[in-house]
Amino acid sequence: MEKNLDNCVFCKIVRGEIPATVVMQDEHTLVFMDIGSVNPGHMLVAAKPHVENLQGMDEDLAGAMFRAASRAAKAIEKVFKPSGISVYQANGVAAGQTVFHAHIHVLPRWENDGLTFTWPVKNPSREELERVAAQLRAAL
Ligand code: AMP
Ligand code: ZN
Repeated sequence: MEKNLDNCVFCKIVRGEIPATVVMQDEHTLVFMDIGSVNPGHMLVAAKPHVENLQGMDEDLAGAMFRAASRAAKAIEKVFKPSGISVYQANGVAAGQTVFHAHIHVLPRWENDGLTFTWPVKNPSREELERVAAQLRAAL
């Protein structure tokens, strides 16, 4: 599990080889300020071991990641009292992932803060939802 990659930027941060502004850490996660913050208070919860994405996490790590995200959100709430908080986690190029070491964005949100997301709703039939759910259930 304790995999680390020589040339991975977040592994370098976890090892303390390049600077980062760390907010908190535990056995499984390191939480630090996003250098490209969208809003002040934008943090990244990174896995300590090198795993590329959500699919690569074991259950302990997945649980620790969301626990840390929840703590980060509570700190944002206290400090900024924002009008919203977003949690964003990208897996793969099509999802917008640019650093291929698993991380969760947690950031304060404000009305008209410029962060937009299009959500092209397809409204599939119940039959279609059931068909896809059956495939997914079988894969769990
Ligand atoms: P993603 O598109 O989810 O892969 O986002 C990667 C995030 O990592 C971006 O928001 C970057 O601003 C952030 N990032 C990249 N390098 C660093 C770094 N050295 N320190 C802090 N944040 C970083
Ligand atoms: Zn890494």
